[in-house]
Amino acid sequence: MRLLKSKSGLPVLFRPMNSGLVDIRYFIKCGAMDEARPKDEGLCHALEHMLYAGTENRDWMEMNRALERLGSWFNAYTYHDRTIYQITCLKRNWQAAYEVLADMMYNPTFPEERWEEVEKGAVISETQAAEDDPDVLLSEGIYRDGLGKRYHPILGNIPNIRQATMSDLKSFYDRYYCGDNMLLTVTGDLTETQVIRAVNKHDRLRLQRPPKKEKLSFKFNYKPFAIKKQELEQSTIQLLKPLTIPRTIQGQIGLELAVSCLTQYLFEELRERRGLCYGAKAELYWDIPGSLFLTIETSTDEERFDKTKKALHKTLNSFMKNGLTTERVRNNKMSEIYTTVNSRERIGHSSDWLWDAWEEGIKKDPFEYQLKALEALRHSTVRRAAAQVVDGRAKFGKITEK
Ligand SMILES: [Zn+2]
Repeated sequence: MRLLKSKSGLPVLFRPMNSGLVDIRYFIKCGAMDEARPKDEGLCHALEHMLYAGTENRDWMEMNRALERLGSWFNAYTYHDRTIYQITCLKRNWQAAYEVLADMMYNPTFPEERWEEVEKGAVISETQAAEDDPDVLLSEGIYRDGLGKRYHPILGNIPNIRQATMSDLKSFYDRYYCGDNMLLTVTGDLTETQVIRAVNKHDRLRLQRPPKKEKLSFKFNYKPFAIKKQELEQSTIQLLKPLTIPRTIQGQIGLELAVSCLTQYLFEELRERRGLCYGAKAELYWDIPGSLFLTIETSTDEERFDKTKKALHKTLNSFMKNGLTTERVRNNKMSEIYTTVNSRERIGHSSDWLWDAWEEGIKKDPFEYQLKALEALRHSTVRRAAAQVVDGRAKFGKITEK
């Protein structure tokens, strides 16, 4: 991975890689968290829709045609802390693909009628669909708790979207899509000269400074939560607890391994052995400073739900003694090595890593760095991390049928 300097001042992270494909992404360090003013809520996601509604060079139809002509994969994503615009294309088309992407990023015209007639409705219907999805409700609940005042729903809220005008959107774009909020990643079988020449030709970064980011303060709230939904196929038990993210890479990998060992153990004990649930998984949330999230999907039958709940506590209590065996840690280490090598060799996965690695201060190849740390990882490091995962208080939640 190399950092290239472009004429416009845009930082470009370039990872040379043997592949028939090229992956190009604009990362905008602006997400729902940055929607500070009440009327901004939902604008990140709305922008994501409106950037390909037309530019100074192409209307929406020509934009669609241009993307189709490239035979490429184009997508955009809005998160709490970032927005990503991605194009993955055949190597022979990469310059044309990059030109279209840069056009979208820098020359949007925000056509009013497109917003009023199509995209506004599209955003609202997406928001409505999400309100019926227990998974989304829960993960949004976690972010709401974790982020406090900085929490804004990613998809936006419907009354706000209804009111939003193109001038709101344009002013949000002008304030946030500029300066050091922007970064480009390029992965593929290219040279530095080829990349930087293309960037110098098409990138139009505005150097003006984006609004300063407020510091994230995180307060964990232990209040249990309960969501009731109609016509559920399954009930869900949730456990959520704060964790301290270790400072060293060894500690962090140890924590990841401990969590994947726990997922396996829960799955074996609750599903395979006792047949109490359909799914069981433990996940780490890194962007809310350190949270563990346990999800157990079980039947809507009340008796079985209670049984599962009791068994869950038992399983957590026996994890250190029976679940975290040397063999399991070794197996999960192997699977983590597999994941790292797989990411290193697949173009889309590999790009996913670049920005995060850069933010963490990893200047060399993040994959080699991770592999080295994995090989050197000790069982005792994983045990220490695991103890943190199962000890202490947790917040309990459930989604059940109305
Ligand atoms: Zn959308």
